[in-house]
Amino acid sequence: MTASKERIAAILAKHKAKNPSNKPVKQSRAEVKVDNILDELSYPALDSNSADVSTSFLDTPTDHSIPINLVTLAEGEIDPRLKLMSHSSRTTMHKCPRKNQLYRLGSSKIALADEKETEQGVTFAYGHAVGTGVAAALEYTTNPDRVIIETFLAWDTDLLEATPRQNKSYWLAQFAVEKFMNLLECGFLDDYELVYYQGKPAIELSFCIKMPDGFYYRGFVDAVLKHKVTGEIMVLENKTSSGTANSAMYKNSGQAVGYSVVLDIIFPELSSYLVLYLVYETKSYDYVELPFRKSLLQRALWLQELLIDVERIKLYESFNTHPMHGEACFDFFRECEYLSLCTMSTENLSRNAPLTQEIVDKIDRELANYQFHVDFYDLVESQIDKGNS
Ligand code: SF4
Repeated sequence: MTASKERIAAILAKHKAKNPSNKPVKQSRAEVKVDNILDELSYPALDSNSADVSTSFLDTPTDHSIPINLVTLAEGEIDPRLKLMSHSSRTTMHKCPRKNQLYRLGSSKIALADEKETEQGVTFAYGHAVGTGVAAALEYTTNPDRVIIETFLAWDTDLLEATPRQNKSYWLAQFAVEKFMNLLECGFLDDYELVYYQGKPAIELSFCIKMPDGFYYRGFVDAVLKHKVTGEIMVLENKTSSGTANSAMYKNSGQAVGYSVVLDIIFPELSSYLVLYLVYETKSYDYVELPFRKSLLQRALWLQELLIDVERIKLYESFNTHPMHGEACFDFFRECEYLSLCTMSTENLSRNAPLTQEIVDKIDRELANYQFHVDFYDLVESQIDKGNS
C-alpha cells in the first residue's frame, strides 16, 4: 500500500513538472479516487496544483506506523526463545546445536505447533492433518462428517501441494483418517474408553513444565484411554512414516515418557502406563501398532536428561558457541537449509527476527495457554514419593 502511494505521488509530481504554469489541472477519475482513499485514511489529499506535491504526505508523520520495540538482553542473559524447549527442539539440538539455535533465533514463531512448520511444509501438514483426524475420530465416533471437516481444517498448506515420493497429500491424509475410522468400526480399541478430564475428552492435552532458570518444556498428549475391564491407562500416540515403522524408532523416545506429567495430574497414583504408537505407513497405506510400557525408572532418567539439556544450552551460551555437528548436514535425504550459511555470524542470520517486546509478550501469552502447568521440582518430589511408596 505504501509503495503504491509513493509511486502515485511520484507520477503526480512528474505530471506537475510537465505543467509548470500552475494552471488548474483537471483530475482524472483515478486521481480523484486516490484522493478519496487518502481522505479516508486521513492522509493529505494529492493536490496536483499544490506547490510541493512530492512532500505533501510522504514526509508527514502519520499515526499508522507500528513501533518495533527491540529488547536488549543484559550481558549473559539468554534469549527467551532459546529457553522454549520441546521434544522437537531437543531432537534438533541433539543432532546439531547450531541448527537449533538458528531455528529458534531466526523465527518469531514461538507456539509449539508452529515449530515443526518451520521445518517442513507438506510433511508437517500431512502429519498434523492425520493426527487431528485420528483424534477427531476418537471423539466424534458417530459423526464421520465432522471428522472429515476437522481433517480438512488441519491441512494448513496449499490444498494441491503434495510430495509424491513420500505419498503425502491432502487426499491421502483424508484416506489415512478414513482408514482409521474403518479400524474403529472393525473393533479396534473396543476394549478401551476415552478418558474425560474436567468434563472434556482427554485429547490433544497440552502441558508445560517450568524448568530452572526460566526454561520451559512443552508438549501435547494425543489421547488418553482407559481399559474398560482392567482400568489400565494407555496413551495413544499417532505417527506417520514414509518408511517402514520399526519399534527401535520409538522404543526409547523421551517424548512418550513426558506424557507421565499429564497422567500424574489426572491419575496421581499411577506408576506405569502403556503407550501405543499407532504408525501410519504412507507407502503401505496401513497402520502398525507398536506398544511400549513406561515405568518410573524411565521417567527418572527422562527428568535427569531434561535438566542436562537445560545445562547444555546454558553452557553453549556461556561460550557464545552452539556447536556445529557436521554429520547432521545431510539428513532425511536433504541438505540442511543452513549449509554454507551457519558459519556466518548469528546476528546476521537472525536479523529478520530480532527479539522484540511483541515476541516476549507472545511467549508469555503462549505459556499461559497450556492446560497443565507443572514445576520441575514438584515432579522430582512426586517421583521420589512414588519410588519410596
Ligand atoms: S549446515 Fe550442518 S553444521 Fe550447519 S547448522 Fe546445518 S546441520 Fe548444523
